[in-house]
Amino acid sequence: MKYPVNEIFETIQGEGSMTGIPSIFIRLQGCPVGCSWCDTKHTWEVKPELQVDVSQIISVSNESENWAQMTSQDLLAQVLKYQARHIVITGGEPCLYDLTELTQVLHDAGCTTQIETSGTFEVKTHADTYVTVSPKVNMKGGYQILTSALNRADEIKHPVATEQHIDDLNALLAKREENRKISICLQPISQKKRATELAIQTCIKNNWRLSVQMHKYLAID
Ligand code: SF4
Repeated sequence: MKYPVNEIFETIQGEGSMTGIPSIFIRLQGCPVGCSWCDTKHTWEVKPELQVDVSQIISVSNESENWAQMTSQDLLAQVLKYQARHIVITGGEPCLYDLTELTQVLHDAGCTTQIETSGTFEVKTHADTYVTVSPKVNMKGGYQILTSALNRADEIKHPVATEQHIDDLNALLAKREENRKISICLQPISQKKRATELAIQTCIKNNWRLSVQMHKYLAID
């Protein structure tokens, strides 16, 4: 299995229940979901003419549309050059790809894995992968949030700016089977004051968590 990789970098997980954990981020190229506020629009398309050598994408956080094809073993070799052993596979939309082999290889090497997905594609990972679903409802691409993804989630991290977003989340939660312990995090969109206040009030009311995208406040990648 080969994966189109946009970048690999080591940092601190800045969002959700895993906030603060040293992590290696593997960002895969490709996402058809079309969120208007997306801050990684450079990952949307896998353009054949922008395929580059692996050496050109490693540690490049410059929002390039370039991508390199890497196998699970290529990715493991790169991961082992860093210190962190928590691996976050993100995108783009990582669930465009079958991540079973990659997450298995990483777990076999002693790593923990986490994926961050919109929930619009089937989740295929190692059974122990921590799955963060950040549902993107009614986006331009027209994809529905899959109930199977909601049921597989260990964490639902929901972007919030208006009451409608809370209603959307409650509608999604009503679809879930109550058979898995789950953490629910509200994340104010674009750090706006009104969105943050709404998220705080809703978290307190429901005993949910607030996720504030710590890396943006710290101005790190
Ligand atoms: S799902 Fe993620 S990568 Fe895709 S458009 Fe939405 S925010 Fe961007």
